[in-house]
Amino acid sequence: MPLILALLTVLLLINGTITSVNAAEEPLPWRAGLAKVVITPQETMWMAGYAARNKPAEGVVHDLYAKALVLKDSNSTTFILVTLDLISVPHPIRNHIEAHVNEKYNLPASALMINCSHTHCGPEIRTTRWSFDGLPSERLSIAKKYVEDLQSNILKAIDNAMSSLQPSNVSYCRARCGFAMNRRTPSPTGYRNSPYPNGPVDHDVPVLKIQDMEGDLTGIVFGYACHNTTLSFYQFCGDYAGFAQQYLEEDFDGAIAMFVLGCGADQNPYPRGTLDLAKTHGRTLATAVKSALGTTSIPISDQLKHAYSKATLAYSTPPTKEELVSRSNSSNKYIATHGKRLLQQLETDGMLRTTYDAPVQVVQLGKNLTLIALPGETCVDYALRLKAELIKTPAQQGSVWVAGYSNDVFAYVPSRRVLLEGGYEAGGAMKYFTTVLQHGPFAPDVEERLIKKVHDLLGN
Ligand SMILES: [Zn+2]
Repeated sequence: MPLILALLTVLLLINGTITSVNAAEEPLPWRAGLAKVVITPQETMWMAGYAARNKPAEGVVHDLYAKALVLKDSNSTTFILVTLDLISVPHPIRNHIEAHVNEKYNLPASALMINCSHTHCGPEIRTTRWSFDGLPSERLSIAKKYVEDLQSNILKAIDNAMSSLQPSNVSYCRARCGFAMNRRTPSPTGYRNSPYPNGPVDHDVPVLKIQDMEGDLTGIVFGYACHNTTLSFYQFCGDYAGFAQQYLEEDFDGAIAMFVLGCGADQNPYPRGTLDLAKTHGRTLATAVKSALGTTSIPISDQLKHAYSKATLAYSTPPTKEELVSRSNSSNKYIATHGKRLLQQLETDGMLRTTYDAPVQVVQLGKNLTLIALPGETCVDYALRLKAELIKTPAQQGSVWVAGYSNDVFAYVPSRRVLLEGGYEAGGAMKYFTTVLQHGPFAPDVEERLIKKVHDLLGN
């Protein structure tokens, strides 16, 4: 049928009498375009993910990618999803890409979502003053050059996806996958990073399936809520998410597979520690995606809506100058460096940061699927809460996809529960974040502020 329509359209065009035949007789389907660009560093450089690393990368297990999906509905409303096999999406990179998308395609901020896999075996990403601080000049210039190249590679992926738009069917399916486990184990001295089978998890594997009009699979977008921390060695690698994408692209020739990280801030892949385990988890997740593809997928009607705004998150009461002096004398070098930088910030700006404006995005795909993109290293409670609040009937199961690590990854974003429990994700990790210098934990209303913004954007 589409072929006949296409022929009819061409014939009418030749006669110069085309009057939106498609719109009148059969609505245009989705148009979808996909592209990927290698972003593996071309020269030896330092890696991101573990502060204790003491030398640059020593090799490459497989390539890292920037991938782009462009979806256009029959009204030409457009959505661009970018996924990155990288530790983070710093706000300067998001701003750069957003400006390009606005200038070149006249699209608003809400049309662009950028998610990172948070692989701990990618290159370091340094974009701001505090992330440059104290770096030897050679290392700094390599890091800056990488970000420049990265930005042009992301734009190339978007441009290539734009120019490969073709009529497509978009549908949705899902499965489950079990290797993610909560990593916050209670102990007499607080919460420690260790597998905790009693803690909350989100084992959903949502899958967006994109097919051309012949029915061939062209895109597989899949999500999972788990840190990409099977590995901690000195080789560039996408960890389990890199392998899952690789295996799916090998198994579905011609398709591009894109991984979207969920709210996995307090989730680790277990067991972990070897390349074989990263491959095993990758294969397990790819198999879950295949099992989702084997179910009856739900067609998504070609209607697209998106909204994007910032939630103002407040920090807890800032430390006094005396506290900062004491921190800067700590024997723990990370606490000391953090304390010294905060003292400098206090001197330069006259105050420490009191709030952060964090982006929140909602994308409505047809009537069936709501994609929510949360910022920061988002704890699993957010996904569980939003699904519980937005899914009201059994028939709506699976209709809400919650991504974390999107658009701006500036800190851990704990739920109220995690914040009050304390530990690494609650604020202990704040000293390691340098894109935005932050003195300590968020205020206990951080969860309410983020969730309220989601509901506001959804018009609830
Ligand atoms: Zn993390």
